[in-house]
Amino acid sequence: MTSPCLVWFRLDLRLRDNPALSAALARGGPVIPCFVDDGEEQGKWREGGASRWWLHHSLLALNSSLNEKGSMLVLRRGAAEEELIQLVRETGAGAVYWNRRYEPAIIARDSRVKERLRAEGLEAKSFNAALLNEPQAIRNKQGGPFQVFTPYWRHCSALPIEPPVTLPAGPFPAPDRWPSGAALEALRLLPEKSWADAFGDRWTPGEAGAAARLARFLKEPVGRYAEQRDEPAAGAVSELSPHLHFGETSPRLIWAAAQRLSKGTGVFPSSRGLQKFLTEVGWREFAYHLLYHFPNTTHEPLREEFRRFPWADDPDGRLFNVWKRGRTGYPIVDAGMRELWTTGWMHNRVRMVAASFLVKHLRLAWQQGAAWFWDTLVDADLASNTLGWQWTAGCGADAAPYFRVFAPVLQGEKFDPEGRYVRRWIPELARLPDVWLHKPWEAPPEVLAQAGVVLGKDYPQPIVDHAKARAEALRAHETLRSTGAPGR
Ligand code: FAD
Repeated sequence: MTSPCLVWFRLDLRLRDNPALSAALARGGPVIPCFVDDGEEQGKWREGGASRWWLHHSLLALNSSLNEKGSMLVLRRGAAEEELIQLVRETGAGAVYWNRRYEPAIIARDSRVKERLRAEGLEAKSFNAALLNEPQAIRNKQGGPFQVFTPYWRHCSALPIEPPVTLPAGPFPAPDRWPSGAALEALRLLPEKSWADAFGDRWTPGEAGAAARLARFLKEPVGRYAEQRDEPAAGAVSELSPHLHFGETSPRLIWAAAQRLSKGTGVFPSSRGLQKFLTEVGWREFAYHLLYHFPNTTHEPLREEFRRFPWADDPDGRLFNVWKRGRTGYPIVDAGMRELWTTGWMHNRVRMVAASFLVKHLRLAWQQGAAWFWDTLVDADLASNTLGWQWTAGCGADAAPYFRVFAPVLQGEKFDPEGRYVRRWIPELARLPDVWLHKPWEAPPEVLAQAGVVLGKDYPQPIVDHAKARAEALRAHETLRSTGAPGR
């Protein structure tokens, strides 16, 4: 009789297009799905509060899907390596299968696990579930990693795309006796305070939630995506990022769905919106490529001269707190930071503006901002967060040049012209006319009075003057050049 196989779930919390699971089922013996909550596995990048909220609900959903297949998810707490060995002993498993991850600490740990399992005479196999192209397989003409998106994506677009892996029909073969497992509540993933209570109004973690969101996006918003993806109130983006991070859907499933949508047109991708959307999924791939090849970029700038950047002093954390709490006095920035706190997510355009405000207007180090996003985003992802922050700070691969400083008022007026986004997240400004909404400090006193706004009381005065902050940021950047940094 074939021995049982452990399927070690990680950031692949789904049944469809799950190569480790399908391979375990194809192997023939009993399949034992497990998840190990290992607080230490990512070093300083342990999941943040919002991610843990998501993880709780996603594990619940995965367990329900497994129950429908006559199976269940065995939960364990502790060092993954030890827990897996323990599970192997308890179940007599002859194999452990999992899908690969790409964070530096996880790669090192997984290599150790694989070696140890093999040394114990077990079959240990890993698979690709998260990416169209794994970073180790992609090289530029010189044999090195890509550092610019366009050639990277051109190269990848010429490669064949694997279809999703099929899931065999019917129940999963179960072991005679299930090993012991922890109750989900014992993992204590939910925040103790009521902070995340409203997340559930916005999100449905799990594979079914991911499939529903993809279907909804492809039904209509995708048609507007190319034109409106930068408008935070337009509802033109997919909001798939947390589902992709936790592996509740996959780029292969997205690709296959896009292909079905294109069917009949004879063109793939069939529309500008679809094309642009798939290119954004490509940015996610690029983020993993960079993380894999430049693992230090989670905490160090890719462009070395930025190590000497003269960040501002903020000894008591006042500036940082003002930014975190959405009290900078710049409505588009504050709306974004409040959306983040309330829902665990922020629209991409506003992420860029809010992040830029931190690193340029306040001149606080991008690593601080990245850490806050890490804790509060439901889609916090080491690859994409690192790329997003280094891009904004001008110190990463294919980054926005540092001297391009987003003007928050202009950004607000351009991408939220009717103020729908700002009014939603900053209700105290809701009655201001559009023309003053993104710069309330310039509104005439009678207009403020009519709108019921007392600046400095209901809503803050701007924490910095834009023109002055911009000039200081550019001066600070100049010092990199004058200290003989290698220019690009
Ligand atoms: P859509 O526009 O619908 O795009 C589809 C998918 O493509 C997304 O779900 C995402 O997986 C991927 N994608 C889109 N834009 C990007 C991008 N710029 N970089 C990488 N992947 C992208 N994204 C995260 O998933 N996790 C993060 O922790 C994260 N941190 C960020 C921090 C900063 C400072 C910035 C500027 C961006 C960050 N992003 C991050 C990228 C981007 O903001 C989100 O992926 C996007 O807003 C998610 O919304 P969506 O699913 O509606 O995206």
